Amino acid sequence: MKTKSILTEARQIERAVTLIKLGARLQVLESETDLSYERLLRLYKEVAGKSPSKGQLPFSTDWFMTWQPNIHASLFLNTHEYLNKVAELEEIDTVIKAYQLYLEQTQAQNLEPLLSITRAWRLVKFVDNGMLTMTKCSKCAGSFVTHPHEIAKHFVCGLCNPPARAGKGKASGSLQLH
Ligand SMILES: [Zn+2]
Repeated sequence: MKTKSILTEARQIERAVTLIKLGARLQVLESETDLSYERLLRLYKEVAGKSPSKGQLPFSTDWFMTWQPNIHASLFLNTHEYLNKVAELEEIDTVIKAYQLYLEQTQAQNLEPLLSITRAWRLVKFVDNGMLTMTKCSKCAGSFVTHPHEIAKHFVCGLCNPPARAGKGKASGSLQLH
């Protein structure tokens, strides 16, 4: 486990602003900065120009298992894992950087970024606590988000085996995950 270094307040505000600009929910900011709720609320309204959405984060692991979201989540997580290995960043900064790269990749392919920063953040938490993992596709050898009990020998990813209803659209462009 990485120790949380003591950040200056300015650095915390900068981090919060970056997350708000990327569309993060308030819960992410509360979890990843030491700024007070009131402070974050003010900051959110200032930067986003609106009040944050209320209520619980509705996400379960199910969303990540559906076809297109799984491809997007896998694209993000591959980048995240790579940065984790090569860059000495704090956990949340790795999420931010990987998400910015994910946005660049989808933009370059003319794809709508299906994965929100809040979901990306949740995904990393799910992987950290063992609820999700990555498994190599037995056909293309790309690494994809799966449940931990997936049997690698038989696993075929959503790019190699798209659902019948997917048709010939450029749903996933030419994304490569290996
Ligand atoms: Zn595959």
